Amino acid sequence: MIAIKTENLKKIYKFEGAEIEALKGIDLTIEEGDMVALMGPSGSGKSTLLHLIGGIDIPTEGKVYIKGEDIFSLNEKKLAVFRNNNIGFVFQFHYLLPEFTALENVMIPLQIYNKRDVEKKAKDLLDKLGLSHRIFHKPSQMSGGEQQRVAIARAIVNQPSILIADEPTGNLDSKNTETVMNILKDMNDNNNVTMIIATHDKDVANYCKRIIYLKDGMLAEE
Ligand code: ADP
Ligand code: MG
Repeated sequence: MIAIKTENLKKIYKFEGAEIEALKGIDLTIEEGDMVALMGPSGSGKSTLLHLIGGIDIPTEGKVYIKGEDIFSLNEKKLAVFRNNNIGFVFQFHYLLPEFTALENVMIPLQIYNKRDVEKKAKDLLDKLGLSHRIFHKPSQMSGGEQQRVAIARAIVNQPSILIADEPTGNLDSKNTETVMNILKDMNDNNNVTMIIATHDKDVANYCKRIIYLKDGMLAEE
């Protein structure tokens, strides 16, 4: 089964009267259960590609299929529901809500959809990620690695089959990078979560099964 497929995917940003061609026609296929590192210099289009694959930005041209669904043929509301049921995001800067505890941050995606037993589910997950002693802490009261693990918990609490991570360890030291990557690898191994992870870090890429390179908005050799 194919998890992610893009066809002739293009993105042009308009900026102060100029056009920036961030993606120049990407054809990419990722199988279910794969764990893919997305590498390439700064400005090569990694974040743009991840945003389009995740349906959080729209392409100028081309298509994105997630598990066979042509996501940009969905209306905004259906796309939002599809995204929440299928895709988890982890970013370099975790974007946790500062006023809320770790537990509350993880519960947020669950409450939107009124799932039952939300607190237990969030607690169990934080426990699994080694954070049972931090559930009532706010982001500012946790280390960078702990914050990133909370962000991972929030991204996977809805059990997405696809995880998109944009430099998830970009802000972490090597020990925390290792912890985070072991968690992701474990999710890929045991839950068959398909992953695409943008990174500059060779060590992070080495956790992955496949490495793809972007250069100037185009796929380079694997
Ligand atoms: P990467 O993640 O590989 O560093 P990006 O996808 O962020 O690359 O950026 C690709 C190109 O698109 C860069 O030239 C960047 O400056 C430009 N770009 C990204 N986002 C925007 C935006 N919102 N408006 C204008 N240009 C943008
Ligand atoms: Mg980026």
